[in-house]
Amino acid sequence: MKIAVAGAGIIGACTAWAAAKQGHSVTLFEQDTAMAHTSRSSSKLLHGGLRYLETGQFALVKKALHARRFWLKHAPDLCRPLELLFPIYARRGRPKWQVGIGTRLYDFLAAGSGFPYSAWLGKAETLARCPTLLSDGLKGAFSFYDAQMDDYALGQRVVEQCRRLGVSVAEHHKIESFGQLAEFERIANAAGPWAMALRSLQGGTPAYAIDWVRGSHIFIDRFQPQALMLPVPQEKRIFFVLPYQGKTLIGTTEVRQSHPDAQRPSETETAYLLAAYNAYHSEKLTANDISGSFSGVRPLIKSAADPSNATREWAFERVGNVLHIYGGKWTTAQLQGEAALQELLK
Ligand SMILES: Cc1cc2nc3c(=O)[nH]c(=O)nc-3n(C[C@H](O)[C@H](O)[C@H](O)COP(=O)(O)OP(=O)(O)OC[C@H]3O[C@@H](n4cnc5c(N)ncnc54)[C@H](O)[C@@H]3O)c2cc1C
Repeated sequence: MKIAVAGAGIIGACTAWAAAKQGHSVTLFEQDTAMAHTSRSSSKLLHGGLRYLETGQFALVKKALHARRFWLKHAPDLCRPLELLFPIYARRGRPKWQVGIGTRLYDFLAAGSGFPYSAWLGKAETLARCPTLLSDGLKGAFSFYDAQMDDYALGQRVVEQCRRLGVSVAEHHKIESFGQLAEFERIANAAGPWAMALRSLQGGTPAYAIDWVRGSHIFIDRFQPQALMLPVPQEKRIFFVLPYQGKTLIGTTEVRQSHPDAQRPSETETAYLLAAYNAYHSEKLTANDISGSFSGVRPLIKSAADPSNATREWAFERVGNVLHIYGGKWTTAQLQGEAALQELLK
Protein backbone atom coordinates (compact mmCIF):
# COMPACT_ATOMS: atom_id res chain seq x y z
CA MET A 1 0.00 0.00 0.00
CA LYS A 2 1.17 3.59 -0.65
CA ILE A 3 1.33 5.40 2.68
CA ALA A 4 2.17 9.02 3.52
CA VAL A 5 3.16 10.01 7.05
CA ALA A 6 3.11 13.72 7.91
CA GLY A 7 5.59 14.63 10.65
CA ALA A 8 9.05 13.18 11.30
CA GLY A 9 9.07 13.38 15.06
CA ILE A 10 9.43 10.09 16.90
CA ILE A 11 5.74 9.20 16.47
CA GLY A 12 5.74 9.72 12.70
CA ALA A 13 9.12 8.00 12.31
CA CYS A 14 7.91 4.96 14.29
CA THR A 15 4.70 4.82 12.23
CA ALA A 16 6.70 4.96 8.99
CA TRP A 17 9.09 2.33 10.37
CA ALA A 18 6.24 -0.03 11.27
CA ALA A 19 4.74 0.35 7.78
CA ALA A 20 8.08 -0.13 6.02
CA LYS A 21 8.75 -3.29 8.05
CA GLN A 22 5.55 -4.72 6.58
CA GLY A 23 6.71 -3.91 3.06
CA HIS A 24 4.50 -0.88 2.37
CA SER A 25 5.69 1.95 0.17
CA VAL A 26 6.12 4.86 2.59
CA THR A 27 6.95 8.56 2.30
CA LEU A 28 7.67 10.47 5.51
CA PHE A 29 7.03 14.21 5.07
CA GLU A 30 8.58 16.73 7.45
CA GLN A 31 8.09 20.49 7.31
CA ASP A 32 11.51 21.15 8.89
CA THR A 33 14.09 18.44 9.59
CA ALA A 34 13.52 15.11 11.31
CA MET A 35 13.41 15.33 15.13
CA ALA A 36 13.57 19.12 15.07
CA HIS A 37 10.81 19.70 17.61
CA THR A 38 9.27 18.02 20.68
CA SER A 39 11.09 14.73 20.14
CA ARG A 40 14.48 16.33 20.76
CA SER A 41 13.29 18.44 23.70
CA SER A 42 12.28 15.72 26.15
CA SER A 43 13.67 14.94 29.59
CA LYS A 44 15.63 12.15 27.80
CA LEU A 45 14.01 9.48 29.94
CA LEU A 46 12.76 6.12 28.77
CA HIS A 47 10.52 5.68 31.72
CA GLY A 48 7.35 4.15 33.06
CA GLY A 49 6.55 7.41 34.81
CA LEU A 50 6.49 6.80 38.56
CA ARG A 51 4.34 9.87 39.11
CA TYR A 52 1.60 8.68 36.74
CA LEU A 53 0.76 6.01 39.33
CA GLU A 54 -0.73 8.81 41.44
CA THR A 55 -3.28 9.49 38.71
CA GLY A 56 -4.08 5.79 38.32
CA GLN A 57 -2.51 5.40 34.85
CA PHE A 58 -1.43 1.83 35.66
CA ALA A 59 -1.89 0.39 32.16
CA LEU A 60 0.17 3.20 30.62
CA VAL A 61 2.92 2.85 33.23
CA LYS A 62 3.13 -0.90 32.69
CA LYS A 63 3.26 -0.50 28.92
CA ALA A 64 5.99 2.15 29.20
CA LEU A 65 8.03 0.16 31.73
CA HIS A 66 8.21 -2.73 29.28
CA ALA A 67 8.77 -0.45 26.28
CA ARG A 68 12.07 0.75 27.83
CA ARG A 69 13.58 -2.64 27.04
CA PHE A 70 12.93 -2.27 23.29
CA TRP A 71 15.13 0.82 23.05
CA LEU A 72 17.89 -0.58 25.26
CA LYS A 73 18.01 -3.70 23.12
CA HIS A 74 17.96 -1.97 19.75
CA ALA A 75 20.20 1.01 20.49
CA PRO A 76 22.44 0.16 23.46
CA ASP A 77 24.90 2.83 22.33
CA LEU A 78 22.26 5.57 22.66
CA CYS A 79 20.46 4.53 25.87
CA ARG A 80 21.43 3.20 29.27
CA PRO A 81 19.68 2.05 32.42
CA LEU A 82 19.56 4.88 34.94
CA GLU A 83 19.23 4.62 38.70
CA LEU A 84 17.25 7.50 40.18
CA LEU A 85 16.92 8.45 43.83
CA PHE A 86 13.72 9.88 45.30
CA PRO A 87 14.89 11.55 48.55
CA ILE A 88 12.48 11.65 51.49
CA TYR A 89 12.51 14.54 53.96
CA ALA A 90 10.71 14.81 57.28
CA ARG A 91 7.57 17.00 57.05
CA ARG A 92 8.26 17.79 53.41
CA GLY A 93 6.82 16.35 50.20
CA ARG A 94 5.25 12.91 50.06
CA PRO A 95 5.58 10.65 53.11
CA LYS A 96 7.96 7.70 52.97
CA TRP A 97 5.16 5.11 53.03
CA GLN A 98 3.51 6.65 49.97
CA VAL A 99 6.65 6.72 47.83
CA GLY A 100 7.47 3.22 49.07
CA ILE A 101 4.12 1.90 47.81
CA GLY A 102 4.72 3.68 44.50
CA THR A 103 8.17 2.18 43.95
CA ARG A 104 6.91 -1.31 44.94
CA LEU A 105 4.05 -0.99 42.48
CA TYR A 106 6.55 0.20 39.85
CA ASP A 107 8.60 -2.97 40.47
CA PHE A 108 5.48 -5.10 40.22
CA LEU A 109 4.35 -3.53 36.94
CA ALA A 110 7.90 -3.78 35.55
CA ALA A 111 8.23 -7.48 36.41
CA GLY A 112 10.01 -9.32 33.62
CA SER A 113 11.45 -6.16 32.04
CA GLY A 114 14.92 -6.97 33.36
CA PHE A 115 15.49 -3.84 35.46
CA PRO A 116 16.76 -4.04 39.07
CA TYR A 117 14.17 -3.68 41.85
CA SER A 118 13.76 -0.52 43.89
CA ALA A 119 15.44 -0.27 47.29
CA TRP A 120 15.51 2.00 50.34
CA LEU A 121 18.81 3.75 51.05
CA GLY A 122 19.52 5.23 54.47
CA LYS A 123 20.56 8.83 55.03
CA ALA A 124 24.31 8.14 55.07
CA GLU A 125 24.24 6.24 51.80
CA THR A 126 22.00 8.84 50.17
CA LEU A 127 24.42 11.62 51.13
CA ALA A 128 27.39 9.53 50.02
CA ARG A 129 25.76 9.21 46.59
CA CYS A 130 24.72 12.85 46.45
CA PRO A 131 26.81 14.97 48.85
CA THR A 132 25.21 18.27 47.83
CA LEU A 133 21.73 17.24 49.02
CA LEU A 134 20.58 19.08 52.15
CA SER A 135 21.06 16.74 55.09
CA ASP A 136 18.69 18.57 57.46
CA GLY A 137 15.50 16.47 57.71
CA LEU A 138 16.74 13.91 55.18
CA LYS A 139 15.55 10.41 56.05
CA GLY A 140 17.03 8.58 53.07
CA ALA A 141 15.93 7.87 49.53
CA PHE A 142 14.18 5.29 47.40
CA SER A 143 16.34 4.02 44.56
CA PHE A 144 14.52 2.91 41.42
CA TYR A 145 15.43 2.35 37.78
CA ASP A 146 14.46 3.83 34.46
CA ALA A 147 16.59 4.51 31.39
CA GLN A 148 18.12 7.52 29.71
CA MET A 149 18.52 8.20 25.99
CA ASP A 150 19.96 10.72 23.61
CA ASP A 151 16.53 11.58 22.19
CA TYR A 152 17.81 13.36 19.07
CA ALA A 153 20.30 10.64 18.12
CA LEU A 154 17.84 7.84 18.89
CA GLY A 155 15.17 9.51 16.79
CA GLN A 156 17.66 9.90 13.93
CA ARG A 157 18.47 6.19 14.30
CA VAL A 158 14.81 5.35 13.71
CA VAL A 159 14.77 7.59 10.62
CA GLU A 160 17.93 5.83 9.41
CA GLN A 161 16.19 2.46 9.87
CA CYS A 162 13.26 3.83 7.85
CA ARG A 163 15.58 4.86 5.02
CA ARG A 164 17.24 1.44 5.03
CA LEU A 165 13.83 -0.14 4.54
CA GLY A 166 13.15 2.11 1.56
CA VAL A 167 11.14 4.93 3.19
CA SER A 168 11.47 8.15 1.25
CA VAL A 169 12.13 10.93 3.79
CA ALA A 170 11.04 14.30 2.42
CA GLU A 171 12.38 17.02 4.73
CA HIS A 172 11.47 20.70 4.31
CA HIS A 173 8.21 19.52 2.81
CA LYS A 174 5.16 20.87 4.60
CA ILE A 175 1.77 19.24 4.04
CA GLU A 176 -0.67 22.11 3.52
CA SER A 177 -3.57 20.17 2.04
CA PHE A 178 -4.48 16.53 1.67
CA GLY A 179 -4.87 17.19 -2.06
CA GLN A 180 -1.05 17.18 -2.15
CA LEU A 181 -1.22 13.54 -1.08
CA ALA A 182 -3.86 12.33 -3.56
CA GLU A 183 -1.55 9.60 -4.86
CA PHE A 184 -1.42 7.92 -1.42
CA GLU A 185 -3.93 5.28 -0.36
CA ARG A 186 -3.49 6.01 3.34
CA ILE A 187 -2.24 9.06 5.24
CA ALA A 188 -1.07 9.31 8.85
CA ASN A 189 -1.14 12.69 10.54
CA ALA A 190 1.73 12.50 13.05
CA ALA A 191 2.29 16.23 13.26
CA GLY A 192 2.50 16.21 17.08
CA PRO A 193 1.78 19.73 18.38
CA TRP A 194 0.53 20.68 14.87
CA ALA A 195 -1.80 17.68 14.49
CA MET A 196 -4.91 19.85 14.91
CA ALA A 197 -3.86 22.13 12.05
CA LEU A 198 -3.86 19.12 9.73
CA ARG A 199 -7.06 17.75 11.26
CA SER A 200 -8.82 21.08 10.61
CA LEU A 201 -8.18 20.66 6.86
CA GLN A 202 -10.90 18.00 6.86
CA GLY A 203 -13.60 20.02 8.63
CA GLY A 204 -16.08 18.60 11.14
CA THR A 205 -15.51 18.42 14.88
CA PRO A 206 -12.34 16.59 15.91
CA ALA A 207 -12.87 13.66 18.29
CA TYR A 208 -10.15 15.00 20.61
CA ALA A 209 -8.70 18.33 21.68
CA ILE A 210 -5.00 18.97 22.17
CA ASP A 211 -3.51 20.73 25.15
CA TRP A 212 -0.21 22.46 24.31
CA VAL A 213 1.92 22.25 27.42
CA ARG A 214 5.42 23.71 27.23
CA GLY A 215 8.16 22.04 29.21
CA SER A 216 11.52 23.70 29.77
CA HIS A 217 14.89 22.41 30.96
CA ILE A 218 18.11 24.09 31.98
CA PHE A 219 21.68 22.77 31.80
CA ILE A 220 24.34 23.52 34.35
CA ASP A 221 28.00 22.67 33.79
CA ARG A 222 28.52 21.38 37.35
CA PHE A 223 28.19 17.63 36.87
CA GLN A 224 26.01 15.73 39.33
CA PRO A 225 26.41 12.00 38.62
CA GLN A 226 23.40 10.89 40.68
CA ALA A 227 19.99 11.22 39.02
CA LEU A 228 17.27 12.58 41.31
CA MET A 229 13.50 12.83 41.18
CA LEU A 230 12.26 15.45 43.64
CA PRO A 231 8.92 17.01 44.56
CA VAL A 232 8.63 20.71 43.69
CA PRO A 233 8.22 22.45 47.08
CA GLN A 234 4.56 23.16 47.94
CA GLU A 235 3.36 21.41 44.78
CA LYS A 236 2.26 17.96 43.67
CA ARG A 237 4.61 18.21 40.68
CA ILE A 238 7.99 16.57 40.55
CA PHE A 239 11.17 17.59 38.73
CA PHE A 240 14.36 15.82 37.69
CA VAL A 241 18.05 16.50 38.22
CA LEU A 242 19.82 14.31 35.67
CA PRO A 243 23.41 13.67 34.64
CA TYR A 244 23.46 14.13 30.88
CA GLN A 245 26.44 14.16 28.53
CA GLY A 246 28.83 15.56 31.14
CA LYS A 247 26.41 18.24 32.37
CA THR A 248 23.44 18.35 34.72
CA LEU A 249 19.97 18.68 33.26
CA ILE A 250 17.20 20.13 35.43
CA GLY A 251 13.57 20.02 34.37
CA THR A 252 10.84 20.33 33.66
CA THR A 253 8.06 22.88 33.78
CA GLU A 254 4.45 22.56 32.61
CA VAL A 255 3.10 25.77 31.12
CA ARG A 256 -0.12 25.65 29.15
CA GLN A 257 0.06 27.75 25.97
CA SER A 258 -2.31 28.67 23.18
CA HIS A 259 -0.18 27.66 20.18
CA PRO A 260 1.97 24.70 19.11
CA ASP A 261 5.32 26.52 18.71
CA ALA A 262 8.03 26.09 21.31
CA GLN A 263 9.54 29.33 22.52
CA ARG A 264 12.60 30.01 24.66
CA PRO A 265 12.14 29.07 28.33
CA SER A 266 10.80 32.14 30.11
CA GLU A 267 12.64 33.80 33.00
CA THR A 268 9.82 32.63 35.26
CA GLU A 269 10.46 29.04 34.22
CA THR A 270 14.22 29.17 34.75
CA ALA A 271 13.71 30.88 38.13
CA TYR A 272 11.20 28.14 39.04
CA LEU A 273 13.70 25.39 38.18
CA LEU A 274 16.56 27.10 40.05
CA ALA A 275 14.36 27.56 43.13
CA ALA A 276 13.25 23.92 43.03
CA TYR A 277 16.88 22.75 42.80
CA ASN A 278 18.07 25.14 45.52
CA ALA A 279 15.36 23.93 47.90
CA TYR A 280 17.22 20.61 48.16
CA HIS A 281 20.89 21.46 47.64
CA SER A 282 23.51 23.07 49.83
CA GLU A 283 25.40 24.52 46.86
CA LYS A 284 22.96 27.07 45.49
CA LEU A 285 22.63 27.86 41.81
CA THR A 286 22.05 31.27 40.26
CA ALA A 287 21.09 32.26 36.73
CA ASN A 288 24.83 32.61 36.01
CA ASP A 289 25.23 28.85 36.41
CA ILE A 290 22.86 28.13 33.53
CA SER A 291 24.90 27.10 30.50
CA GLY A 292 22.01 26.20 28.23
CA SER A 293 18.28 25.67 28.09
CA PHE A 294 15.60 24.35 25.80
CA SER A 295 11.88 23.88 25.71
CA GLY A 296 9.41 21.66 23.90
CA VAL A 297 5.65 21.50 23.57
CA ARG A 298 3.80 18.40 24.74
CA PRO A 299 0.86 17.63 22.46
CA LEU A 300 -1.28 16.17 25.25
CA ILE A 301 -4.81 14.94 24.83
CA LYS A 302 -6.99 17.40 26.76
CA SER A 303 -8.17 15.34 29.71
CA ALA A 304 -7.63 17.27 32.96
CA ALA A 305 -7.87 20.81 34.30
CA ASP A 306 -4.28 20.52 35.56
CA PRO A 307 -1.96 19.55 32.65
CA SER A 308 0.19 17.68 35.15
CA ASN A 309 -2.66 15.18 35.52
CA ALA A 310 -3.42 14.90 31.80
CA THR A 311 -3.16 11.46 30.28
CA ARG A 312 0.03 10.53 28.42
CA GLU A 313 -1.86 7.90 26.44
CA TRP A 314 -2.31 8.13 22.69
CA ALA A 315 -5.55 8.23 20.69
CA PHE A 316 -6.49 7.84 17.03
CA GLU A 317 -9.20 9.38 14.89
CA ARG A 318 -9.93 8.06 11.43
CA VAL A 319 -11.48 10.45 8.89
CA GLY A 320 -11.67 8.98 5.38
CA ASN A 321 -8.25 7.60 4.48
CA VAL A 322 -6.50 9.81 7.05
CA LEU A 323 -5.52 8.59 10.50
CA HIS A 324 -4.97 11.41 12.97
CA ILE A 325 -2.58 10.48 15.78
CA TYR A 326 -2.80 12.36 19.06
CA GLY A 327 -0.73 12.32 22.26
CA GLY A 328 1.69 9.65 23.42
CA LYS A 329 5.17 9.50 24.92
CA TRP A 330 8.66 9.02 23.54
CA THR A 331 9.10 5.81 25.54
CA THR A 332 6.07 4.10 23.98
CA ALA A 333 6.52 5.54 20.46
CA GLN A 334 7.48 2.23 18.86
CA LEU A 335 4.29 0.59 20.20
CA GLN A 336 2.29 3.63 19.17
CA GLY A 337 3.70 3.42 15.63
CA GLU A 338 2.72 -0.27 15.37
CA ALA A 339 -0.77 0.48 16.72
CA ALA A 340 -1.17 3.42 14.33
CA LEU A 341 -0.27 1.21 11.39
CA GLN A 342 -2.92 -1.34 12.38
CA GLU A 343 -5.54 1.42 12.47
CA LEU A 344 -4.29 2.85 9.20
CA LEU A 345 -4.62 -0.46 7.39
CA LYS A 346 -8.24 -1.02 8.49
C1 LIG B 1 9.48 18.94 28.11
C2 LIG B 1 9.11 17.57 27.66
C3 LIG B 1 9.69 16.48 28.30
C4 LIG B 1 9.36 15.19 27.89
N1 LIG B 1 10.01 14.15 28.46
C5 LIG B 1 9.74 12.90 28.06
C6 LIG B 1 10.49 11.82 28.57
O1 LIG B 1 11.44 12.01 29.34
N2 LIG B 1 10.14 10.58 28.18
C7 LIG B 1 9.10 10.33 27.32
O2 LIG B 1 8.81 9.18 27.05
N3 LIG B 1 8.40 11.35 26.77
C8 LIG B 1 8.71 12.62 27.11
N4 LIG B 1 8.05 13.68 26.54
C9 LIG B 1 7.02 13.41 25.54
C10 LIG B 1 7.62 13.16 24.15
O3 LIG B 1 8.76 13.97 23.95
C11 LIG B 1 6.57 13.44 23.09
O4 LIG B 1 5.43 12.67 23.37
C12 LIG B 1 7.04 13.08 21.68
O5 LIG B 1 8.34 13.57 21.42
C13 LIG B 1 6.07 13.66 20.67
O6 LIG B 1 6.54 13.33 19.40
P1 LIG B 1 5.76 13.75 18.10
O7 LIG B 1 6.37 13.00 16.97
O8 LIG B 1 4.29 13.60 18.31
O9 LIG B 1 5.99 15.33 17.98
P2 LIG B 1 7.22 16.13 17.30
O10 LIG B 1 8.52 15.58 17.72
O11 LIG B 1 6.99 17.57 17.54
O12 LIG B 1 7.05 15.79 15.77
C14 LIG B 1 6.01 16.32 14.97
C15 LIG B 1 6.65 16.71 13.66
O13 LIG B 1 5.64 17.02 12.72
C16 LIG B 1 6.15 18.04 11.87
N5 LIG B 1 5.02 18.68 11.19
C17 LIG B 1 4.04 19.41 11.77
N6 LIG B 1 3.16 19.83 10.85
C18 LIG B 1 3.59 19.35 9.65
C19 LIG B 1 3.10 19.45 8.32
N7 LIG B 1 2.00 20.14 8.04
N8 LIG B 1 3.80 18.84 7.33
C20 LIG B 1 4.94 18.15 7.61
N9 LIG B 1 5.45 18.04 8.86
C21 LIG B 1 4.78 18.62 9.87
C22 LIG B 1 6.88 18.96 12.85
O14 LIG B 1 7.81 19.79 12.19
C23 LIG B 1 7.53 17.95 13.79
O15 LIG B 1 8.85 17.64 13.39
C24 LIG B 1 8.39 14.98 26.88
C25 LIG B 1 7.82 16.08 26.24
C26 LIG B 1 8.21 17.36 26.60
C27 LIG B 1 7.66 18.53 25.87
